[in-house]
Amino acid sequence: MLDVEPLYLKIGASEVEEISVTATTMVQLVRQHMFAPGSLKHPPRLTVSDICSYAKKTRAQFYASVKKENKLPTGVKKNNRLDYTLDEARQWVKFLTPGRQKNPSVNCAVTIAVANFKGGVTKTTTTATLAQGLSLRGYDVLVIDLDPQGSLSNLFGLLADIDVEEDQTVMELYAGTQKTIDPAIQKTYWSGIDIVAASPVLHNAEFILPVRQQKEAGFNFGSILDLGLDSAREKYDVILIDTPPSLSYTTVNALMAADGIIMPLPPSPLDFASSAQFWNLCNDIMKGLTLGKNSPEKKYNFIDVVLCRVDKSVGVSSVVRDWIIRSYGAKVIPVEIPKTAIADTASAGFGTVYDVQSTPSLAKTLKRAKDAYEQFVDHIETQIQGVWVGVLNTENRKDNP
Ligand code: ADP
Ligand code: MG
Repeated sequence: MLDVEPLYLKIGASEVEEISVTATTMVQLVRQHMFAPGSLKHPPRLTVSDICSYAKKTRAQFYASVKKENKLPTGVKKNNRLDYTLDEARQWVKFLTPGRQKNPSVNCAVTIAVANFKGGVTKTTTTATLAQGLSLRGYDVLVIDLDPQGSLSNLFGLLADIDVEEDQTVMELYAGTQKTIDPAIQKTYWSGIDIVAASPVLHNAEFILPVRQQKEAGFNFGSILDLGLDSAREKYDVILIDTPPSLSYTTVNALMAADGIIMPLPPSPLDFASSAQFWNLCNDIMKGLTLGKNSPEKKYNFIDVVLCRVDKSVGVSSVVRDWIIRSYGAKVIPVEIPKTAIADTASAGFGTVYDVQSTPSLAKTLKRAKDAYEQFVDHIETQIQGVWVGVLNTENRKDNP
């Protein structure tokens, strides 16, 4: 055999390494440009109308509280109106809505997995907007990014390859070097949302978990995240988990840890067709098949299918919507997220509609895009409150059988 390198094999490892370095540098530059000044994301500022809208109070009720309450932030006057930082606005919303957050005697966050095995169906956007919408209503939220691509981490201003260390992800919990998720939690630029970030190191979960299952007696690969969340459940009101677009060990962990599932589903024929696979896995998990013979059955408080990125101008959307409703019935929630240029553009700027600061020219389209998310957040808020009522009733029944 001749030891001559074939002329048609032109691309070698060094060339790909060069592309990889250039692309990583470019992502860093883009971030500096997006988050200028200082390469950090900035939360929006809020007005009295925003506070009233998130607290569901009238301006008269707000100003009556301002007169009585002198310990809360006073805001600053800008263009003849009061302006608050996100943190200040959240303090007001919490003050105006006592009893909305989790009841101290329940003391257990509601954990929600956002899942669908297909990529590009808006799982990450849904997780981030829901986290922001809930935090604006005064809830303390933990988001967990389980996708090695780290898109949710990106939306919270962290670049998976550059900013995220292994101990800031779920990996140490999966590897058994930590028993709880707590050491992996970090604050984000958004007051009221903390994150467990993701990086490509999460791919190793698919090797580590099955190896531990084989080697360690009594190890149950699917309950690692669930067990590791126990202390966080006491600290937060809501825990939202963004999952990778695959049937993986890590997705099973998310579904086992969750009290409720949200499945974003664009009304397109291909997305609908692949959504069936998701229900097969859910079925296996719920019957205890995925984790072996002796694993307990799993029950959920809610499973919501959300029609998202709905383009009313495309005829096939309404046909597929009909298939989805006929297949998934009452699981399809009555709120739809429309396809909007502003939601798409916001993600190009590593953000969501809640990050977009309104201007007179944007106001109308931004409101339309935000309104749908607001209705969606309201719907999920009702589900969360429902879970707590259920837990409270169960506790009461235990005390007074
Ligand atoms: P996934 O996490 O399922 O892969 P993403 O949340 O990353 O999906 O969203 C996929 C794409 O859809 C992104 O480019 C995002 O900007 C876009 N997108 C999300 N929501 C909307 C929307 N309401 N209207 C238009 N585009 C959207
Ligand atoms: Mg995603």
